[in-house]
Amino acid sequence: MATRLHIDWTRCDGHGSCAELLPELLTVDDFGFPAVRTGDRDPLVPDRLEEAALHAVRNCPLMALRLYDAS
Ligand code: SF4
Repeated sequence: MATRLHIDWTRCDGHGSCAELLPELLTVDDFGFPAVRTGDRDPLVPDRLEEAALHAVRNCPLMALRLYDAS
């Protein structure tokens, strides 16, 4: 399964906790908003990071993150 991470920019307020929980994929920009390290719009989540990604999704206070199967 190819899992990708989507950020709903209409919900995200730059809280930034997702980047702390998933630093391998996300960092924060100068305004505190998450930025994808690879530059991809919806980055591919490696198998080894799926659990951490799910944790980030569940802990986003604004439910702005979701994982989807892109295979
Ligand atoms: S945790 Fe959610 S609201 Fe906060 S920066 Fe990440 S996506 Fe945006």
